[in-house]
Amino acid sequence: MTSGSQSRMSEPPSQAPAAPLDVCITVDMEPDCPPFLWTWRGMEEGAPKLLDLFARHAIPATCFTTGDSAVHSPDIVRRIIAEGHELASHGMTHTPFPRLDRDKAKWEIETAAQVLREFGEVTSFRAPNLLFPNVYLPILENAGFTLDSSQGKHKQMWWFGQIDPPPSPPTSLTRIPASTTSSVMRLPAVIRDRFLRSLKGPVVLFVHPWEFVDLTREKLRYDCRFRTGVPALGDLDAVIRLFKNAGAGFRTMRDLAAGAA
Ligand SMILES: [Zn+2]
Repeated sequence: MTSGSQSRMSEPPSQAPAAPLDVCITVDMEPDCPPFLWTWRGMEEGAPKLLDLFARHAIPATCFTTGDSAVHSPDIVRRIIAEGHELASHGMTHTPFPRLDRDKAKWEIETAAQVLREFGEVTSFRAPNLLFPNVYLPILENAGFTLDSSQGKHKQMWWFGQIDPPPSPPTSLTRIPASTTSSVMRLPAVIRDRFLRSLKGPVVLFVHPWEFVDLTREKLRYDCRFRTGVPALGDLDAVIRLFKNAGAGFRTMRDLAAGAA
């Protein structure tokens, strides 16, 4: 129900048609809201519902999966591959990289790659908490990664605007930042939709499987727990419809990078 494509009859058609908006839905497949819970309800109960939702909409997603999650829920990883989504890496144990020395960072990246590549091709990476020191980029390059989505446009200025991340040092990796934080999806629709419509492409949204189980009574930060469970699934469904109605094309991160090359 958008009116963005309407034009006034009195205005000459002076502009070329806008290119279709690219949207990537990304899922960080991990334990429940680390470092607060570390249980697995999201992978066990939330992830199947998410994959069902993507199947109903016939859209691909990119699933940044921790190695530990693949060990815990191999059937979910097999579904990710079988249903045409991109399997990607979210590190091994969801330990923030700024806390790791070089050897431990290398272990996280290489061990997760080894575990995940047992299931299929893995060439995209996102660091836990969108925190990845640039000095570790060569470790990703040497481990066969070609895309990094460890930056967030919202990190610089919450949600009052999209600010590009600082310039990247020279790297062979394509760097595509997340557009916004996941809890935006669960805001009241009137605020959320206005914000989402303002995002410039490519729009990289992300969610977590634990948002789709009811965590409202858990001892968590408010932004992690509000409207989790069934309402969150309805919210994501509405967001997908919003972009579909705007004529957006849904792509995996790998396909987006291939198109941009
Ligand atoms: Zn994460």
